[in-house]
Amino acid sequence: MEQNPLPENGSYYTSQKQLEEAAAIIKLDPAAYEILRRPLRELHITIPVKMDNGSTKIFDGFRVQHNDARGPNKGGIRFHPEETIDTVRALASWMTWKTAVMNIPLGGGKGGVICNPKTMSTAELERLSRAYIRQLGSFLGPEKDIPAPDVYTSPKIMGWMADEYSIMHGYNSFGVITGKPLALGGSAGRSDATARGGIYCVREAAGRLGMNLVGARTAIQGYGNVGSYAHKLAVELLGMKVIAVSDSSGSIYNPDGFIYESLMAHKIMTGAVKGFPGSAAISDKELLELDVAVLFPAALDSVITEANAADIRAKIIAELANGPTTPGADSILYNKGVYIIPDLLCNAGGVTVSYFEMVQNSYGYYWEEEEVHHRLEQKMKTAFLAMQQSSHAYKVHNRLAAYIVAVKRVAEAMKLRGWC
Ligand code: NAD
Repeated sequence: MEQNPLPENGSYYTSQKQLEEAAAIIKLDPAAYEILRRPLRELHITIPVKMDNGSTKIFDGFRVQHNDARGPNKGGIRFHPEETIDTVRALASWMTWKTAVMNIPLGGGKGGVICNPKTMSTAELERLSRAYIRQLGSFLGPEKDIPAPDVYTSPKIMGWMADEYSIMHGYNSFGVITGKPLALGGSAGRSDATARGGIYCVREAAGRLGMNLVGARTAIQGYGNVGSYAHKLAVELLGMKVIAVSDSSGSIYNPDGFIYESLMAHKIMTGAVKGFPGSAAISDKELLELDVAVLFPAALDSVITEANAADIRAKIIAELANGPTTPGADSILYNKGVYIIPDLLCNAGGVTVSYFEMVQNSYGYYWEEEEVHHRLEQKMKTAFLAMQQSSHAYKVHNRLAAYIVAVKRVAEAMKLRGWC
């Protein structure tokens, strides 16, 4: 792997800095550190796809397997025009830490295809999805590497991919992918799992900080799958008031709080949150800097940086997005006393229910939604406690504490396997 200087504030740079800090604190064995700094495997593929107009378009795709010392690699597939191998590497490593901090027997992987699904027909998307799986060939498998949906991929796409893999192998192998539709072996409770896990963490954090969340104000950056469920559940489970939300069309504000059902109906009808009746337009910067109890970044990476960290007024930042806070911003926020629930824990509800989906697929027996919620809550509480204990033991902020828990677990598995 090339060792060129990485652009600061990029997610790969961020992931490397975070590992470096955790490794120094726990005096990680240098060989283990060298293994963990890079992916164990990555596959770069060229994907020819017949387009509807009869032409053939060539797409570039990747699959990165960061580390499978604790179990098969697990992580989503992103279809995005600006996808890069470095982003996929960072995301794959975050999956390793996420599965380790949740103590589920999986490793970390991630995939991506450079494409713009918004400009492709359903038939073209299906051909691309199937071709991606064919090109990856034996790189994937329920015992090796199990993808899932991520940015601009969906349960429908997972259904095509599971079908293609099953055709290639001559038998139904639905456990090769998670986030599938329910009728193809998906798990109850998967669609809101990422947001739900984050909400459980916010409840734990508020309990420790002695904060009353009922009626408290919150803002959500990114009103997609995760952000919109965060709205629903922040109101339903915590009694909070969502006063600002945003998507790629812009940010809106209403001090009285938004009603989930009405805002969702508007978003579905118009494709955007902007223009929602009764709301005022604000800038994305203003949204991030609102005086709220909880700020949910649920869109992009690197949105809270050294440039705006000092102006953030939220008491808790619940990182539903991957990598929203840069390392420089981390220390500013920590010194200001902002309580960050780091992405590796805060958005790990998704991979946890994906793991439940794998378990249900292998047993061929499916749980009710309440059971999924109950098991997810237990897992999130246990992981939150492990982070807290690590934070006290090492006197470090939450992100570093969660990293330390994860890196120690992965390093132990590598050592026991004789890798270092
Ligand atoms: P999504 O595509 O459904 O939603 C993303 C939302 O962000 C969209 O509404 C988009 O309009 C909005 N957005 C884009 N640019 C923006 C900008 N500049 N300002 C404000 N909003 C903007 O994706 P998602 O599945 O909801 O994922 C959101 C984040 O959560 C990503 O960082 C993803 O990696 C992370 N995540 C998702 C899952 C999951 O289960 N879906 C799990 C873990 C982490």
